[in-house]
Amino acid sequence: MTAGRNSFILRGGRIHDPANGVDGAVRDLHVRNGRIVAAGAAGEDGSPRGPGDAPVIDASGMVVMAGGIDMHTHIGGSKANLARSLLPELHRDRSRLLDEDPFAASGQAACPICTPGALETGYRYAELGYTTAFEPAMMASNARHAHLEMGDIPILDHGAYVMLGNDDLLLRMLARRVDFERIRDYVGWTVHAAKAMGVKVVNPGGISAFKFNQRALDVDDRHVHYGITPRQLLQTLTRALTELGMPHPLHIHASNLGVPGNIASTLATIDAVEGLRAHLTHIQFHSYGTEGPRKFSSAALELAEAINARPNISLDVGQVVFGQTVTASGDTMSQVRNADLASPRKWIGADIECDAGCGIVPFRYREQSYVNALQWSIGLELFLLVRDPWRMALTTDHPNGGPFTSYPHLIRLLMDKAYRDEQLATLHPDVAATSRLREIGREYSLQEVAILTRAGPARLLGLKDRGQLGTGAAADIAVFRDQADREAMFRTPEYVFKDGVMVARRGRIVAEPVGGVHFVAPRYDRAIERYVADHADRYLTVAAADSVIGHDELCNCCRGGRLMLTALLRQDEAGSGAGGD
Ligand SMILES: [Zn+2]
Ligand SMILES: [Zn+2]
Repeated sequence: MTAGRNSFILRGGRIHDPANGVDGAVRDLHVRNGRIVAAGAAGEDGSPRGPGDAPVIDASGMVVMAGGIDMHTHIGGSKANLARSLLPELHRDRSRLLDEDPFAASGQAACPICTPGALETGYRYAELGYTTAFEPAMMASNARHAHLEMGDIPILDHGAYVMLGNDDLLLRMLARRVDFERIRDYVGWTVHAAKAMGVKVVNPGGISAFKFNQRALDVDDRHVHYGITPRQLLQTLTRALTELGMPHPLHIHASNLGVPGNIASTLATIDAVEGLRAHLTHIQFHSYGTEGPRKFSSAALELAEAINARPNISLDVGQVVFGQTVTASGDTMSQVRNADLASPRKWIGADIECDAGCGIVPFRYREQSYVNALQWSIGLELFLLVRDPWRMALTTDHPNGGPFTSYPHLIRLLMDKAYRDEQLATLHPDVAATSRLREIGREYSLQEVAILTRAGPARLLGLKDRGQLGTGAAADIAVFRDQADREAMFRTPEYVFKDGVMVARRGRIVAEPVGGVHFVAPRYDRAIERYVADHADRYLTVAAADSVIGHDELCNCCRGGRLMLTALLRQDEAGSGAGGD
C-alpha cells in the first residue's frame, strides 16, 4: 500500500505529549493516513523512504506537540460579523497598517487581527500550530449561521457551545416549576438541534433581566419577571448536563462580569454548582476585589485558592493583552455598562429572538491605564497561582481580552519570569509597584504549556484522539524550533500538520484542508419536542422543527467537513471531578 501525502515519519523530535506521560523524550512519530501509528507501520526500515514510501521529515532538536486547541474563541456567528461591520477601518490594507501600528512590530495585538475574517482566522491559527477552535456563544436560533461561518474557516476543526439560561422558554419552565426531567430534555433537545459541543450560560438570567430593566443580577437576586435566581439556573443546568453525560461541563460566564468586587459573585457561582463539574470561562474578568484607593484590586489569590481546593472546577483565563481589540459578548447587561469606554467611540447593542442579547464594544487596552494594567496582572496571577494546569486553558477570550494572535507573547510571559518583570515595569506605576506578580517566581515548562494549550482542553472537552500523540491519535502536530525566546518559538512553528497533511511551514500556509465539526448527541425524551414547538409557534419567528440542523445539513455547512460525534460520558464519569493528575 502506498503512503498518501498524509503519511510520513517525523524523525528525532523531542516529544511533549502530557496525555501519554511523555515529557521531552526523543522519539520518531509514525503517521499513516492522517493517524499516528506504531513504529514500523508508517513503512520505514531505516532508509529515508521505507517500503510504504512514507517520506521522512527531520525534526531533530525540535519540540513536537499535538496541534493546539483553543476552547474559547469567538470565531463564528453573528457577533463576529457585527464586529467586522462596526470596524471597517481595521480591514484597510494590512501592509500599511503594519507600518503604522506600534503593536504590530512586537506581534501583539496588531490592529487588523482583532476582527479577522473566516479565511484569516484559519490561516493565522494554523500558522501558530493550532488545529482546533471552539466558538463559545452560539445562539440556538442562530446556530445555522454559526456553523456556516465556522465552516468557512479553513484547516481548523471547530465546534460551538450553545447558549442557554436567558432564553424565555427555560426561564418560564423554571418559574412554573416544570419537572426537572422536562427541563433536562429541553437542554438535550437544544444541544441536538443546534449540533452543539457544549452549553454556555452567560450572566445566568441577567441578559433576560436586562430586558425587564434590571441593571444587575447577582447570584441570589431574583429576576423581576420570572422570580428565579442565577443560583437556581446554575444548579439546574449543571445537573442537566451531568445527567445528559455531556463531556464538557456547563461553560459558565458568571454574573457581574468586569464589576469591581465581583469575586464574591464568582465564589458564589462556584458554590452554586454544589460539587458538580463546571467550567468557569474568562475568569480574569471575574476576579476583581475592591481594595485600595481606587476600589479596584486583584482577587486572583482568593480565586486560585478556591480553584485549587475544588477538583470539579476548570477554567479558561481570558488574559488581557495591550492594544486595540473589540469586545463581543452576549452579556448585554455588561456591554451597556462598558459602552462609555468604547474606543473608537461607537458600539452595537442588540436583542436576539427571545434567546439572548448581544453587545459589540471596540476597546483599546492601555499599559498606562491602572485598570487595564491590573487586569493584565490578574490574568497572569491566575495562570501562575492555579496549580493544576489540566484544569486551566490558555485563552484571551478572543477578541475580548485581545486577539488570539497574541498567544506566543502570552506563552513567553508564562515561561520567562525576567521578561514578565520587564513588561510589568512598563505598566502604570501603581500596578508595577504593587502587583503580586513581582513575588511569583513560577515559570511554565514546555510540558505545562502543552497541557494548557492542547492536552488540557482536549480532556476538558472529551476529545479522545486530539491534543495527544499516542498511537491512534489524529496526526494534528506542531513542530517548533527550540529557541530561548519562547515568543519567537511559538510564533512560527517549523511544521504544522492537520490530520497528517502539512498545512504550514515556517509561517507560510502550504495546504488548506477542510476542517471537521465536533458535536455531541445527548439522549432525551422526544415528548419535549411538542412542548418546544408550541412555545416557538406562539412566541418565536422560527418554527422549532426548522431550527433543528440535520447531519447532512451540518456537513454542507462545513463544506463537506467531517462530522465528529464526541462520545457522551458514562454516568460514573459524569459525576466525578474534571480530571487531572
Ligand atoms: Zn462570555
Ligand atoms: Zn467569550
